[in-house]
Amino acid sequence: MYQHLDIKGNVIALPAGKVVCVGRNYLDHIEELNNTVPDEALLFIKPTTALCCVTEPLVLPSGLGSCHNELEIAVLIKNRLTKAEPAEIKSAIWGYGLALDLTLRDVQDKLKAKGQPWERAKAFDLSCPVSGFVSADKISDPQQLSFSLRVNKQIRQQGNSAFMLHAIEQLILEVSNIFTLLPGDVVLTGTPKGVGPLGSGDQLTLSLLGYFSLETDVL
Ligand code: ZN
Repeated sequence: MYQHLDIKGNVIALPAGKVVCVGRNYLDHIEELNNTVPDEALLFIKPTTALCCVTEPLVLPSGLGSCHNELEIAVLIKNRLTKAEPAEIKSAIWGYGLALDLTLRDVQDKLKAKGQPWERAKAFDLSCPVSGFVSADKISDPQQLSFSLRVNKQIRQQGNSAFMLHAIEQLILEVSNIFTLLPGDVVLTGTPKGVGPLGSGDQLTLSLLGYFSLETDVL
């Protein structure tokens, strides 16, 4: 069963909660999918059963078309936040890691065309592999985090949290106005450009520059 871990592999004493995600938070990714900039944060949820450890081999659904990587900065929440005040946010963050918002892109395209919700494309079992988390006190500036994904040693995604349309604390504040965040919940902060299909046997390297780099592969 999934448990939140720190980057040394120690269990963090917080339950595995829901995952609240934001779509379209980086302009370069909005452009690559020919989407429009939303006037407010585009939010969706993955259930607890989506969480898994990214260093375990990734299991992709079969027979449902392409499954895309979306590498994102993940924020682990440690305090309950309901309609949070700005001053509450920083102390409610346990730390930061990386996550893959695995997305069945062909399924999502069909759902979008029909105006239907995205859960079939984004909330399936094991759709949210996450790294260990770096505690917030070790991160000098969460809005200056460089991160990258290599697939079979080729760079596929390279991002920096400085380019988010909704900065992390503002995003968490907005989320808390709609969904109460509980200790152990995770907030995903959107993907930069470079999404693309993953396949069996692919080797992935996820890096949060200055903090960690880890490897995994697709089953
Ligand atoms: Zn995403």
